[in-house]
Amino acid sequence: MELKCAKNYETDFHAIELTKEITLTGKETVVMAGPCAIESRDQILASAEFMSQLGVKILRGGAFKPRTNPYSFQGSGEEGLSWMAEARDRYGMTLITEVTDMANFDIVAKYSDIIQIGAKAMYNHSVLKAAGKTIKPILLKRHFGATVDELMKMADYIILNGNANVMFCERGIRTFESSSRFTLDLCGAAVMQERSRQPLILDPSHAIGYSFGVPKLAKAAIAFGCDGVIIEVHPDRQYAQCDKDQALSHEEFKLLYSQLRDIAQAVGRELV
Ligand code: PEP
Ligand code: MN
Repeated sequence: MELKCAKNYETDFHAIELTKEITLTGKETVVMAGPCAIESRDQILASAEFMSQLGVKILRGGAFKPRTNPYSFQGSGEEGLSWMAEARDRYGMTLITEVTDMANFDIVAKYSDIIQIGAKAMYNHSVLKAAGKTIKPILLKRHFGATVDELMKMADYIILNGNANVMFCERGIRTFESSSRFTLDLCGAAVMQERSRQPLILDPSHAIGYSFGVPKLAKAAIAFGCDGVIIEVHPDRQYAQCDKDQALSHEEFKLLYSQLRDIAQAVGRELV
C-alpha cells in the first residue's frame, strides 16, 4: 500500500492555503513566530502587535503545554486561547497553537487557524484521526525518537481521514549529543522533501534549545530551502514560563527577520 503523503502516490507538491494571502506552493518560505506558551493577555497582545508591525502573519503560542515536569507551568488553557483570539482580531494575525491530546482537541480546533500536533502527540492516533476530520491545515511535528518513515505513516492517519493539508515539522531528534537540546536532522528533512509531497517546516528553536544558536539555525533552515520556519520569541524572555532558554528577544528576532528575505531569495523562494 503506497503512502498518501508520498510523492510516488501523486507527484505534485501539495499546496496548502494558510491564510487568505499565504498559500504554500513550494516557492514560498513562511515565518511563524511567537512565544512558546501563552502566559497572559498582555504577553500575547504584545507579541501580536510586535509581529504584525514587522510583517509576520502567523502567530504561534501554546495554551496546553505537554511539560515533562508535572510541577512546571502547564499552560493557560482555554482562557489563553481567548486572549490569543483577541490578538488575532486586533492585529489581523493567523494563529497556530498546539493540541496535546483529545482532552483539548475540540477547544484547540475551535480557536486555532492552523492546528499544531506536538512532537509528543505524533503517535496519538485519536488526535491524528480527529485532525483528519477537520478542514484546517495541520502542522505535524516529528517525535524526537521517530524515523522519517514513522512520521510519514502517522501523517497518513490524518490524510486517510479526509484532511490532506498536512505540513511536516522537523524540530530535532534525540542523539548521543547532549550539548544542544536536540539535533536538527536536515538529512531527514531532505528525505522528507524527496519522498513526500507535503510542505516542510523547520523549527530551529526546539532543535538547539538555546537562543544563541537560533538565528544561525534559522538562517541555515531558510538556505536549506524549506516551506517555513517556526521560531519562539518572547516579549520579556527573562520571565518566560516555558522554553525560556531558547526564546529570542524582540530585538534579536527583529534583526534576524531583516536578514531572512535575502536568504530566501537566494534559494529561489519568497519570504511570506
Ligand atoms: C512547542 O512548539 O512549543 C513544542 C512543545 O514543541 P514540540 O512538540 O516540538 O516539543
Ligand atoms: Mn516550546
